[in-house]
Amino acid sequence: MSAFEEFELDSRMLDPEHTESDSDTELSLRPKTLDEYIGQKAAKENLAVYIEAAKQRSDVLDHVLLYGPPGLGKTTLAGIIANEMNVNIRITSGPAIEKPGDLVALLTNMGENDILFIDEIHRLARTVEEVLYPAMEDYEIDIIIGKGPAARSFRMKLPKFTLIGATTRSGQLSTPLRDRFGVLLRLELYSPDELYEIVKRSAGIMDYEITESGARRIAECSRGTPRIANRLLKRVRDFAQVKGSGVIDGAIAEYALEKLDIDRLGLDATDRRMLEAMIKYYGGGPVGLETLAVTIGEEAVTIEDMYEPYLIRLGFISRTPRGRCVTHLAYEHLGIPFSPRPAESEQINMFMPQDGDD
Ligand code: ADP
Repeated sequence: MSAFEEFELDSRMLDPEHTESDSDTELSLRPKTLDEYIGQKAAKENLAVYIEAAKQRSDVLDHVLLYGPPGLGKTTLAGIIANEMNVNIRITSGPAIEKPGDLVALLTNMGENDILFIDEIHRLARTVEEVLYPAMEDYEIDIIIGKGPAARSFRMKLPKFTLIGATTRSGQLSTPLRDRFGVLLRLELYSPDELYEIVKRSAGIMDYEITESGARRIAECSRGTPRIANRLLKRVRDFAQVKGSGVIDGAIAEYALEKLDIDRLGLDATDRRMLEAMIKYYGGGPVGLETLAVTIGEEAVTIEDMYEPYLIRLGFISRTPRGRCVTHLAYEHLGIPFSPRPAESEQINMFMPQDGDD
């Protein structure tokens, strides 16, 4: 069996990306005001000032770029901004806007001070992006009528609007686009205490009975991500209903998480296999991102966006200029004896293949 086959990954319970099964409750669970939005203190405080200032001036809010891993509340925050500013919001995504004409149609249909939210803005086509520059800067667009030598271009005024862009990878945004955002807000993984609040709030909205230890257990396993917390809450509730008394307590949460193969820190089989592959095939690293991706049969971007942020937050993986390394904390967690890596100079003498892709 090749390394690729052995470590092939399947879809996961702990996927921070939106899935079909999240849709039924996601809408009702989304906080509607800044006060209801738990955590992200720094981003929230600054945002409250910008919103208040724009409202006092009766002016449009400056363009906002939200960035951070999936499931942390970027779409939610965009909705809250619209609500707090008392304006309409149009929601779309980078890949959905295929042609410049699609964006022109969206922009010309906006009302004064409205919000256009573009998720995955790093995936906008370059030709579409170019329409955004004058739109963001001067609230104008260039429209070309006709084709060939007879084509004429004229500028059209747009209503003032706010663009909110969301991305998991701000580094992939072109500089001209990034520079046109007045407000850049980075969302961080949530602490277990914040996730505990989120689980309690969601359970309240869905009318689930939950104890403190039940909520804590779910929070601790949610990888710093509210979307995962809400998903786990629903699955644990299923176990509570069928195998327990209906109440989500610590014991039933423990039982359900074990059945879902999620360990006490929120790692699932995928995380463990990835760490084990790094240890087994690369002596704990350094291993380049692309090499690791091939080894476990996963896209490099998926590793970077979905698996790594939490493993780095736990201190299980460190990123070095020569690749990813597994730390002694991960060895301890996996119950594998830790043997310190050879000194830097010895590694070079060993002519180990290195790919410095990060
Ligand atoms: P993103 O756009 O970053 O992928 P979403 O805004 O779709 O994430 O959030 C996913 C889910 O997590 C939402 O349905 C919402 O219920 C919940 N959520 C996100 N952030 C918060 C928060 N700060 N407080 C409470 N719930 C949150």
